[in-house]
Amino acid sequence: MSESQPQAIYLKDYTPPDYRIETINLRFDLNPEVTTVTSRMEVRANYDPAEGRRPLLLNGQELELVSMSMDHDPVGDEGYEISDDTLVIPHPPAHFHLEVVTRIDPSANTALEGLYLSGGNFCTQCEAEGFRKITYFPDRPDVMTRFTTTLIADRKDYPVLLSNGDRIDSGELAGGRHYVTWHDPSLKPSYLFALVAGDLACVADCFTTMSGKEVKLELYVQYGNEDKTGHAIRSLKKAMRWDEEVYGREYDLNTYMIVAVDDFNMGAMENKGLNIFNSRFVLAKPETATDMDFVNIEGVIAHEYFHNWSGNRITCRDWFQLSLKEGFTVFRDSQFTADMTSLAVKRIDDVSLLRTRQFAEDAGPMAHPIRPDSYVEINNFYTLTIYEKGAEVVRMIHTLLGPERFRKGSDLYFERHDGQAVTTDDFVRAMEDANGVDLSQFRRWYEQAGTPKVEVERAYDAAAKQYRLTLHQSCPPTPGQLQKAPFEIPVKTALLSREGAALPLRLAGESQAGGSERVLVLNEPEQTFIFEGIPAEPVPSLLRAFSAPVKLEGGYSDEELAFLMGNETDDFNRWDAGQQLALRVIVRLIEGAPRELDRGLSAAFGKILADDRLDPALVAEALALPPEEYIAECMDEVDPLAIHETRRFVRAALAETHREALAAHYTALADPGPYRVDAGAMGRRRLRNACLAYLVPLEGGSERGFAQYEAAGNMTDSMAALVALVHNAAPRHDEALQHFYERWHEDPLVLDKWFAVQAAAPAPGALERVKQLLDHPDFNIRNPNRVRSVIGSFVMRNPAGFHRDPAAYTFLADQIVNLDSLNPQVAARMLDPLTHWKRYDESRRNAMKEQLVRILRVPRISSDVYEVVSKSLNA
Ligand SMILES: [Zn+2]
Repeated sequence: MSESQPQAIYLKDYTPPDYRIETINLRFDLNPEVTTVTSRMEVRANYDPAEGRRPLLLNGQELELVSMSMDHDPVGDEGYEISDDTLVIPHPPAHFHLEVVTRIDPSANTALEGLYLSGGNFCTQCEAEGFRKITYFPDRPDVMTRFTTTLIADRKDYPVLLSNGDRIDSGELAGGRHYVTWHDPSLKPSYLFALVAGDLACVADCFTTMSGKEVKLELYVQYGNEDKTGHAIRSLKKAMRWDEEVYGREYDLNTYMIVAVDDFNMGAMENKGLNIFNSRFVLAKPETATDMDFVNIEGVIAHEYFHNWSGNRITCRDWFQLSLKEGFTVFRDSQFTADMTSLAVKRIDDVSLLRTRQFAEDAGPMAHPIRPDSYVEINNFYTLTIYEKGAEVVRMIHTLLGPERFRKGSDLYFERHDGQAVTTDDFVRAMEDANGVDLSQFRRWYEQAGTPKVEVERAYDAAAKQYRLTLHQSCPPTPGQLQKAPFEIPVKTALLSREGAALPLRLAGESQAGGSERVLVLNEPEQTFIFEGIPAEPVPSLLRAFSAPVKLEGGYSDEELAFLMGNETDDFNRWDAGQQLALRVIVRLIEGAPRELDRGLSAAFGKILADDRLDPALVAEALALPPEEYIAECMDEVDPLAIHETRRFVRAALAETHREALAAHYTALADPGPYRVDAGAMGRRRLRNACLAYLVPLEGGSERGFAQYEAAGNMTDSMAALVALVHNAAPRHDEALQHFYERWHEDPLVLDKWFAVQAAAPAPGALERVKQLLDHPDFNIRNPNRVRSVIGSFVMRNPAGFHRDPAAYTFLADQIVNLDSLNPQVAARMLDPLTHWKRYDESRRNAMKEQLVRILRVPRISSDVYEVVSKSLNA
């Protein structure tokens, strides 16, 4: 282990900045190997200078300092102290102008933070701490500044020069160079700074805001991709309108720009007025993008747009508050997607992600509250907990207050804090103040990690016509938090009669019933709710629409779950009853129950297939068995191969039993055209392809799969067929793969799918196949999308393939070490499967741990990887 271990940063140590930067004037002389950055800042003390001067601390990494002057006087070596990541001026005046000239090498930047090259174009990524790789600056979100930026570059190679705000000047320079100056009138922190320089096509459109302002919309893509921008532009306009209608938020600048780049660590970035996107969340046409891609693009475009209010105009005081902008914005984009597509399907998809991945995070060594107390590397905290659980916490406030009062709270929040850098506590306080409510206990959701468990006891008193629900809550210990105080948990509840009707609900002490659905607020370790006037014993419908991110143990019998599958009035709960029943069946089989298909599950499956009143998208969700990761999440010791084989057995048995109904659906759902991307058409494709996935492993099924592959006129049907063929190692799957490659190898996003489908194939030999994919001429370890499609798909989406041979753990460790020297952020993300080593049997456990120890011994590992590995070993 190196002597200088990366140090943790603590929330309790927060102090306001000593200096404000009132304005910054940046000049970039752009060249791939040597870019010169000239920064002129007006600096003013943020403390009382009468109490003595304080040092000015500027962050900076991997910068070559060329010169520095203060109020036009050069600052000599004695005037500052410089280290690997800071520049300190010990005794500056209370108000002064500072000019700093630095040089950087964008062509050598493989970490993709700061200023780098993608496809020969310059672009930036500054969140969270990338700006310090561009110039010396107090790189913290509570220093908000007005930016003026001049970009200078060769006109021939870089005709397009973009930055935040409005274009205020441009012109020609000697030597074939030209410049453009941008001014951003809004105050913003450095992490929202962006620039782009390159040779890009611009697709333009416009939007009229609710107050009648014309906003120019500009989407920049590589030449040749212009025909894949229509969906992104339509999505942006829908998002802009929706935010006006639902939250009363209007766009502020004159132009809104989106640039698509191929090399990007994350999904997209909400830089003020100049979003930079991973091209996979922009580019789409039916031939190249699946329905899921279309939905994701609409969601991510909306997410980044919504940040203009929840993130940019009101930003985070410090990075411990990351969920302030992310949790709220994910909640907003999920509401938007639900409005654009289907409320129930969106809820099912969100909860599936939460339960398969966030619950695992909450139970693992990296568990942290949505507002963490400390971190070593903030890049490691762009987690499902911050984003998805953060959104669930905002959703619970919405559930507790109801939509109107929630809107009052959000209005107050936006009005009170516009232009400020604030905390999650400020958000909660605005919700309280606008509505006169007390959310002090609710705040524990921000402070305590772990997934609470809610257990239910039920009792019916026929003589008194009384029904009692007793709810117990508990939460397992997490690193650094052994004891948890009770959470405030909204449990949305209905009581269903044996005929399936939702009964009117009157709680003890109430004079009349208040509707047939109530939000029970559980805020004690144990609480009993008594319902009066219940004529016969009901089946409770609990945690409707998944009203809180908890593990519910409802105490249902198999028969009750089957009843709920047929009679639930809440779409989410109806789906979940099926998931719980299937989960139970699979776990029993893994534990040694006789290898036969459960009759109750089969009957329920058949009933859903036969019910033509149901929405096809929901039927598709209902036919899907719980994913392997979720089954693993519900077991004490995880056996990935047993989970895989058992789940496969149940699927095959269901397919065999319901072969005719599945085939009939498959035929009936064929789309007569024209092809459309709307919720109805997508739902039918989803169901048809779900049927195909069941049918392909059966006798004669692979012909059907191959026929669909050959006939498909869109990527959804093409990929569904390819996945079914490859994942079942069906005859002719190689032929399909070969054909797919030849047709699409020049489209990087489609080629990612080709890599991913192979890396996720569970059949024996997965490790060897993945090694071959890494040797493929189209594999490029510097491109994060490609790394995710091969290594990520194998280690995170293919549990059976990955855990079959312990050599895969060595393989992953080798890849992480290699990646870490290029791109620490991406390397640290790939570590996730190894961090859960304690969940496996002894031999896997030891093999995984051995690799973690080996990674830690590598000299000069990044703080990103160091933090994840050391926490996994010490937890
Ligand atoms: Zn975001």
